[in-house]
Amino acid sequence: MTSRTQRTKVAVIGGGMAGCAATRQLLRSGRDVVVFETADGLGGRARSWHRPEIEPDVGINLMYVSFYKLMTQLIKEYGLEDELIRISSNVWISDHGKTVPLSSDSPLSLLTYRHVKLRDRVAFLLSTLAQVARKKKLDLFDPVKAAPFDDGASAADWGCRQVSRRGFDFLLRPQIEGFWNFACEEISAVHARALLAWMGGSGFYVLRGGMEILAEKNAEGADLKLSHEVTAVQLDGDGITVTAVGPGGTPVSETFDEVVVATPAPIAAKLVAALPTRTVGEETRRFLESQRYEPALSVSYLVDRGTLPAEAHIVAGGPEDPPLRNMITYPRTVRDASGRPVEKLLVFAYPGRANTRRLLGRPTEEQFSEVTKLLPSLWPDFPVAGAEPFQIAERPYGFPIPAPGRYRRSVRVLQELRPPVVFAGDYFNSPTTEAAMLSGVRAAAVLTKAG
Ligand SMILES: Cc1cc2nc3c(=O)[nH]c(=O)nc-3n(C[C@H](O)[C@H](O)[C@H](O)COP(=O)(O)OP(=O)(O)OC[C@H]3O[C@@H](n4cnc5c(N)ncnc54)[C@H](O)[C@@H]3O)c2cc1C
Repeated sequence: MTSRTQRTKVAVIGGGMAGCAATRQLLRSGRDVVVFETADGLGGRARSWHRPEIEPDVGINLMYVSFYKLMTQLIKEYGLEDELIRISSNVWISDHGKTVPLSSDSPLSLLTYRHVKLRDRVAFLLSTLAQVARKKKLDLFDPVKAAPFDDGASAADWGCRQVSRRGFDFLLRPQIEGFWNFACEEISAVHARALLAWMGGSGFYVLRGGMEILAEKNAEGADLKLSHEVTAVQLDGDGITVTAVGPGGTPVSETFDEVVVATPAPIAAKLVAALPTRTVGEETRRFLESQRYEPALSVSYLVDRGTLPAEAHIVAGGPEDPPLRNMITYPRTVRDASGRPVEKLLVFAYPGRANTRRLLGRPTEEQFSEVTKLLPSLWPDFPVAGAEPFQIAERPYGFPIPAPGRYRRSVRVLQELRPPVVFAGDYFNSPTTEAAMLSGVRAAAVLTKAG
C-alpha cells in the first residue's frame, strides 16, 4: 500500500478513448498512472490505420459530431481546431439498389423523400420534434438521465408506434443499423430516441491524423506499457496486482493502489473474475458478463471521382440484414508510385451482420474478393472493375449492444462502482467516442472523490 508520502499508483487497463480519458483525470489528481494496452498504440476502436500516400490522412474516418462537448473542449485545449475536416451528413437510403437522398438535418429533404408515404414522413418529423423537445433529459451520453426512458421497449417497438412498419424500415432503421450494425429489435428505444433528439442540425467532422490523437494527448504523462496484454487482476496484501504479457511473451507483474478496467466488457469480466464480491459487486459482474457486441469490418477501395456521390453515406433500408449495410465515400488525393497527385474517392464498405461475422478473421484477399461482389447490392452502378482494394480494419468488439433495459442496468452498476477497482467503456451508454471518454472521466471521479 502507498504510505502517506507516496503518490497513489493506478493501473489503467486498456488504452482506448475511455481508458485514456480516465488517465487524464487521474494524472490531474496527482496520481501516478500506468496504462496497459494490448495493441502497439493507443486509441482502441477509434485508432486509425495510416497510409502515407493519402491526403488528408484521417484513417478509418471516425466522425466527431458538433454536440460532443468533452471532445470539443479537448480539441480546443490541445489546439487541434485546424485539424478538423468538415464532412457532409448526406445519407442516401437504398431500397434494393434504388437509392434516394435523405439529409438528416433538412425537413425539406424529408418531405421529398420517396421511399415512404407522406403520412409517415410527417409523423416522423413530428416524432423527431417531440424528442428534440426532451433533449436535455434524453441524454445521448449520460445513462443516468436517459435511464427513465428505458422502459423495456426496443427501438423497433417504439419506431413502429411512431410510423408504419415501412416508414420505420426506411426512415429510422437505416440511420441506426447503417452506422452501428446492431438490429433495432435488439436495442433499447432510448438509443433511437436520443439520436433523433440530438442529430438534427449537427455538424460532422473527422480529425486529420485520426481520433487517436486525443487518446495520446490525454495519456501524456502516464507510463505507457504498449503491447502488454493484461491476463490477471488479483488482490493481495499490498494492493492489487496486475499481471500482463509484454512484448515477446515476457511476463510482467506490478502492484497498484487502484485499477481502472477500460477494456470491452467481456474481457473486463474475465480479468476481474478472481476478485471478491466486496471489490466487484454482483450486479457489476453480471452486467459485464452479459454485454454482447456486434463486430465491425471496414473494407475500403479507391475509385475514380464522379463514379459515386462524394461525401455520401449510402445505407441499406428495409427490415432484413443486408449483404452490405453502408458505404461512405470521401474525396481524397492519392500520390501514385511516381508521387503524382491523383484525385480519387475513398470508399469504405461495411458488410451486414451475417457477412461481417462470416468474413471476420478471413484472409485479406478473401475479404476483398467477397465484399467486392457485394458492392453493387448498394449501388448498382458501382465501378467494380476500376475499384482498387485499399485497406481493411477489423473490430471484433465493434459495437456494444444497448439492449432494452441496459441503460437502467448501467445506472445500477455506476452506483455500485467503488474504489479500488472501477470500470469504464462505451458499453455503459450509446456507443460513441464521446460516451467512452465520459465513462472514463466518471470512473476516475469515483477514485479521486474517494481520496
Ligand atoms: C467501425 C466503427 C466505427 C465507429 N465510428 C464512430 C464514429 O464515427 N464516431 C464515434 O464517436 N464513435 C464511433 N465508433 C465507436 C467508438 O469507436 C467506440 O465507442 C469507442 O472508441 C470505444 O472506446 P472504449 O475505450 O470504450 O473501448 P476500446 O476502444 O475498445 O478500448 C479498449 C482498449 O482495451 C485494450 N485491451 C483489451 N483487452 C486488453 C487486455 N487484456 N490488456 C490490455 N489492454 C486490453 C484494447 O486493445 C483497446 O485499446 C465506431 C466504432 C466502430 C467499431
